[in-house]
Amino acid sequence: MDLKTPIRSSTSRVFKMYAGRLERLGVFTIEDLLYHIPARYDDYSLISDISKLQVGETVTIKGKILEIKNQYIKRFRTLQKAKVEDKTGVIDVIWFNQPFLAKNIGSGDLISLAGKVEQNLNKPILKSPDFEIIPEENADTIHTGRLIPVYPQTRGISSKWLRRQISKILKEQKNNLLEYIPYSILKNNDFMEFPQALEQVHFPKNLELAAIARKRLSFDEFFLLQLSSLLKKNEWKKDLVGHAFEIEKFGKDIESFYKRLPFILTNAQKRAVEEILKDLSNTKPMNRLLQGDVGSGKTVVAALAMYVSFLNGYKSIFMAPTEILAQQHYNVISSLLSPFEVNIELVTSSTKNRKSGDNTDIFIGTHALLHKKNINQSKLGLVVIDEQQRFGVEQRSIIRKKGKNPHFLTMTATPIPRTVALVLYGDLKLSFLDEMPKGRVRIKTWLVPVHKREAGYNWIAKNIKQTKNQAFIICPFIEESESLLTVKAATVEYKKLSKEIFPDLKLGLLHGKLKAKEKEKIMRDFKEVKIDILVATPVVEVGIDVPNATIILIEAADRFGLSQLHQLRGRVGRSDAQSYCLLFTESKSEKTLERLKAMEKLYIGAELAQLDLKLRGPGNIYGTLQHGLPQLKVASFSDFSLIEKAKKEADKIFPTLSKYPRLMEKLKGLISPQISPD
Ligand code: ADP
Ligand code: MG
Repeated sequence: MDLKTPIRSSTSRVFKMYAGRLERLGVFTIEDLLYHIPARYDDYSLISDISKLQVGETVTIKGKILEIKNQYIKRFRTLQKAKVEDKTGVIDVIWFNQPFLAKNIGSGDLISLAGKVEQNLNKPILKSPDFEIIPEENADTIHTGRLIPVYPQTRGISSKWLRRQISKILKEQKNNLLEYIPYSILKNNDFMEFPQALEQVHFPKNLELAAIARKRLSFDEFFLLQLSSLLKKNEWKKDLVGHAFEIEKFGKDIESFYKRLPFILTNAQKRAVEEILKDLSNTKPMNRLLQGDVGSGKTVVAALAMYVSFLNGYKSIFMAPTEILAQQHYNVISSLLSPFEVNIELVTSSTKNRKSGDNTDIFIGTHALLHKKNINQSKLGLVVIDEQQRFGVEQRSIIRKKGKNPHFLTMTATPIPRTVALVLYGDLKLSFLDEMPKGRVRIKTWLVPVHKREAGYNWIAKNIKQTKNQAFIICPFIEESESLLTVKAATVEYKKLSKEIFPDLKLGLLHGKLKAKEKEKIMRDFKEVKIDILVATPVVEVGIDVPNATIILIEAADRFGLSQLHQLRGRVGRSDAQSYCLLFTESKSEKTLERLKAMEKLYIGAELAQLDLKLRGPGNIYGTLQHGLPQLKVASFSDFSLIEKAKKEADKIFPTLSKYPRLMEKLKGLISPQISPD
């Protein structure tokens, strides 16, 4: 058995039995088990004589079992009662409903017990303590008498079980746990050595060493992530030959595209366009991520890139995550490009089987595009993917195969802090739209207290009647994928709002389970102001652009991360009219209210993302909105300085990677398909 041995094919019967449960924890190999890092430590390091026990203390005691017996109490429940003696005294110990203990533990056994001392009839007592039988008093302990690792658990696997197995593996695999990071990096950063770090993160001598160990392992995680990104970037450069587009030749056409825009590009947009055009003129296919806050104007940048593809005689694909968005992009891009006689076709699940003319230049659609057959393969020059995180790796490779190494532009509004993006997407080139179009008025945001709900509704009704502007009402976020449950809740809410709250306004309901045609109609009605208030589920909204909508009310705001709220808020404030965002919550938690209050003061996606990272931890942000981000085992995406350090060190040694065979070995097993778009 070595580190790479899959749990399933290990020789240990216990492991085989537990394989399924371990896989649910993301543990597939022996090595994975070592990277199952404690969530916290219980401090059982205080070892006390029985005579000196204080009530309320958490301690370990070591002694001999004098007696242990089962006692039956009512309803088939049992107590296990034991007496334990050391040199200084005797203490009572009880457990509940664990009759097997009386079989496994016998009088005369040496035992180490840990727990909180309680009082029973004026005598100290240990209730349900952790324990382990020890061969001699000074024997090493793993469940008592020290800092005890407590692991993230799953049904059917206890911390105690994990502790025992991990301790065993650490011993058995000692000779396989070798330092693999160049010595100079260890020295420069004062890092703990790898074998020691693994041991100390599980069974630390003290909390300080645990933290040092964790830091070392976190560094490794980012370091390896960055190295594998660099490797992939290299691969990408090496093999692929795509289509180099002419740019200068079409200077005049590009000029007239700009002239027809109803606005001038922001400097950030200009910079992004320049970066993209440069990539497109290269025979290496572009692989670029365009990151920009909601409303920063990514669509027009993509439209220009597709126009350039068209000018060069190539087709483009533009993929959107939902039908509503595909439809909207179709409208926007059509109005931008139709003056130039570009043929644009919408492809959704309802239109995918339609025969399309060979003269389509730009296909805009949803996942349905993946299954569309008659896209002229050799002429596919550019693929644009909007809201990139919703597409899986597999889907990307399908679409790539539709063409001969087309250029790739992915766009995202997910405000990953720049530092994180650089490591995560080290294999992509990055453009940032970090500037909003001029003239945007800050969206006034209020966290509305429960008792002002009524007043909030009244204010909305009045505002709509006065200004003829429109509103979104976002229903509570119930589940990540839009289930019937979500739809039902939204429908109930819609009925209530139509009948009781806004009887003299026109309301529409939009959710993911509607047919494409129905969705289209509702969106059209909303755009044409036949609907005053659009009640929508949260999943359905990303990216919708209706400038006349100036109010958004978000129900159960506490269920969203700040980044998500920011994205939702971005549905309004798309014109120069004053816009408003009302956050409703039933939560009374001070912490939650304070978190939501941040929305009243912060308006930049990246800042809110950063705050979210701090307040809720990365799991929450990266969990709900984004898929396809690597799961970190030890490190945290909020650790910016460590990320930077890892990136620096990785960049430094990258060209000479082959000098470090152990590092190469480690990387080989690690290159996660999730990080890269291919
Ligand atoms: P996002 O980056 O969220 O996809 P969009 O591309 O939908 O943003 O743009 C949001 C709105 O801003 C659109 O109505 C678009 O026409 C407008 N817009 C884009 N660029 C500019 C600009 N430079 N100046 C003014 N308005 C702009
Ligand atoms: Mg968009």
